[in-house]
Amino acid sequence: MGVLETYFHYRNSGIALVEKASSSPDELRALGADPADAAELAHLHRTYFGPTRFSGKQRKARKAALDQQHGLATLALIETYTAKVKKDLDAWNLRAQLAATPAHKIQDVATKRLKELRNKREAKPGVRFTYRSTGPNSITITDNAQVIADIRGTLESINKNDLLDAAKTAVLDGTAGAKPAVHAQVVVTLDEFDRIINGDGDEIELQLTNGGRMTGAEFLTHKFASIGYATIVHPIEGPINSYDLQRHASWKQRLTLCAETQTCSRPGCNKPADYCQVHHIIPWQAGGLTNIKNLTFLCAYHNGINDDDPNKPTGRGYVFRIPGGITHIPPWGLPITATPEYHQAVARLAAKKAEPPPLGTG
Ligand SMILES: [Zn+2]
Repeated sequence: MGVLETYFHYRNSGIALVEKASSSPDELRALGADPADAAELAHLHRTYFGPTRFSGKQRKARKAALDQQHGLATLALIETYTAKVKKDLDAWNLRAQLAATPAHKIQDVATKRLKELRNKREAKPGVRFTYRSTGPNSITITDNAQVIADIRGTLESINKNDLLDAAKTAVLDGTAGAKPAVHAQVVVTLDEFDRIINGDGDEIELQLTNGGRMTGAEFLTHKFASIGYATIVHPIEGPINSYDLQRHASWKQRLTLCAETQTCSRPGCNKPADYCQVHHIIPWQAGGLTNIKNLTFLCAYHNGINDDDPNKPTGRGYVFRIPGGITHIPPWGLPITATPEYHQAVARLAAKKAEPPPLGTG
């Protein structure tokens, strides 16, 4: 084989060549690769053979690229498109799709998909139907957060445990369902309240604990009864109730907690507070109290991975109250069992257990 033929042969062997390039860019350069080739090969190797959360999609993409006999140039072209996608999951879906596309069609397919992904960002209000060849089919309703929160509340008032059954009852039988009598709470801090009263209401967006939102102006015109409850909260001082006799947070404490946070308190999680669990920051078993300072909202998932039980380490960090609010302590931070608050709780629990029983009870 001539030099050019050898070169073309390897360039065309795509995935097989990428698989061999398991060295770092520096090592590839030491073998004689120029910097651009070394970087490209190392990146492709990491992508198609390196560790990833999406190993299933990685396998699929690898097999598709082999089947399509994509050469190195095509694999690099695919990466220029996937690099334009923000979310890892979207990027992997695009990579798998393009790897399964004949080389001459990749540009068209990629351009179309990237355009769809751009449009996906702003969901348009409406009702959409999805029909699948062998079913089941779907209806998707998209509207502003308040309407969706009201629809969910209405469905839950019909059948809290089976929303599909509730939806059938509401739509097919024409049963309207009670618009929920009690429910979300809207939280207004004093400074916001001042601005609303002064006429700046349209500039303030209030969040409801059921996931809905309303502007300050809507808040003023809304009848309180149709919202549920309105709580006026001082931005710095919060009411502190102490109930350490029972494990479960009282209804009042839930309301008060909503004043602090309207969603799961794990940063980045938007699960509305009404669908969250009340979480003891210092665990109840370790002596943590059921009072506002020791409580916060976590969704079922984030409650499950919260690393606060030394017997069941999760390695995912935990939520903790610091001056100013709730924060997330990462796995490499101080373990919760090493905090003074944890020690105090354990000591308090031990002291309580050592107390002699009250006179007369034996
Ligand atoms: Zn969460």
